[in-house]
Amino acid sequence: MTSSVPSEFQGKHVTVAGLGVSGVPAAKALHARGAIVTVVNDGDDARAREQAAALEALGITVRLGDGATLPEGTELIVTAPGWQPDKPLFRAAEQAGVPVWGDVELAWRLRGPDAAPWLAVTGTNGKTTTVQMLASILKAAGLRTAAVGNIGVSLLDAVLGEERYDVLAVELSSYQLHWSPSLRAHSAAVLNLAPDHLDWHGSMEAYARDKGRIYEGNKVACVYNAADKATEDLVREADVEEGCRAVGFTLGTPGPSQLGVVEGILVDRAFVADRQRNAQELAEVSDVHPPAPHNIANALAAAALARAFGVPATAVRDGLRAFRPDAHRIALVAGIDGVAYVDDSKATNTHAAEASLAAYESIVWIAGGLAKGATFDELVARSAKRLRGVVLIGADRALIRDALARHAPEVPVVDLDRTDTGAMLQAVTEAKRLAQPGDTVLLAPACASMDMFTNYNQRGDAFAAAVRELEAEA
Ligand code: ADP
Repeated sequence: MTSSVPSEFQGKHVTVAGLGVSGVPAAKALHARGAIVTVVNDGDDARAREQAAALEALGITVRLGDGATLPEGTELIVTAPGWQPDKPLFRAAEQAGVPVWGDVELAWRLRGPDAAPWLAVTGTNGKTTTVQMLASILKAAGLRTAAVGNIGVSLLDAVLGEERYDVLAVELSSYQLHWSPSLRAHSAAVLNLAPDHLDWHGSMEAYARDKGRIYEGNKVACVYNAADKATEDLVREADVEEGCRAVGFTLGTPGPSQLGVVEGILVDRAFVADRQRNAQELAEVSDVHPPAPHNIANALAAAALARAFGVPATAVRDGLRAFRPDAHRIALVAGIDGVAYVDDSKATNTHAAEASLAAYESIVWIAGGLAKGATFDELVARSAKRLRGVVLIGADRALIRDALARHAPEVPVVDLDRTDTGAMLQAVTEAKRLAQPGDTVLLAPACASMDMFTNYNQRGDAFAAAVRELEAEA
């Protein structure tokens, strides 16, 4: 990567919006291609100054403490994905006719002519798990691949690094998709669509529209969730390449052009010779870890993308068998006195918590935290019959308590009036008291964690530590 390589960015005035995980590598990559780069950043703290000094040493201009004003002469903005579209910087750009790209769009444009195709995944929940399952399947097929994108591994690094790939398994957030106008995946999946991040997108329609961009220009398959009509609608609205197919996944018996489940077997009726008559067995439900319904849906979506790329059935099975989910996603911590203690701290919204609760028959549910504007009536009404009891923690627990009073008045509720980190031990102790042999104590908070913890990891760790303490006493 040298500035002597002719590049479309040579001499171009590019403003990079936001320092940080995507901004710093974007600024460096553009500078190395001859662009005249100015980085603008709202914050002006010690960390920002340190990053700014490193960039300035390369000859990049950095303006700290003002991310609102469009620098004179800007021809292109490359933004951090989280920057909200209604920011004054973007209004000014629109008025001046300046295009705005996100980090993913930049990676897409900078990839080489023989770059690996992208198999892309989005959805309100299950993205990380599905992308990791997909990477595991692709690896089992002997392909050089990596799980990248909104998963902690930047696409820019993957695209510009030394490593050569045959195909990339790409997780994309709705923010990243919003800022990716020309991205064209080989095949893509939208796992599900439920209200989330609406403050950022402005409306459910805008959120869905941004998610739907993932299908634009797909070449082989647009994978949708047959149980979630909104995802199928997005496929219908997408402008895809000639011959690209709509492929559904379902937890039921699959129709032609679908993947589904028949008597405990994951089967493919999409990527087979005669889909009216034939079906290909891929794996057993027990090959999926954990075999909770929503996770089987994730496995089917991953399998569909892999099959769209031509991966054989045996690799789907081997890849699923080899896969283990990241921490805090339906992780069994311990069994004490016939009660299972499960950490799904990553269930930070109601849609995720509902999937989690649907995976168990009789549950003592630990919930609460920051609601982010959510309502809990639907979740509680649909899950009520599974609840042995509920322990509530966190700042917005009253919202869940009120929904329980409306839809599950007979379920015992312990309302812990404390938001300190130590409250988790008390919560688990109360849950143990409510639980009976055969039950599951499930941490699936349906809320964000930041009122009591640094993040969902720390919340899950606190739960696991509390369970271990009770285990030691048992
Ligand atoms: P994301 O990357 O979209 O946040 P993860 O794979 O990290 O998704 O899973 C987050 C949480 O969402 C999990 O802990 C689980 O509670 C829930 N979840 C996972 N897959 C699904 C799904 N297909 N449908 C609904 N909820 C899901």
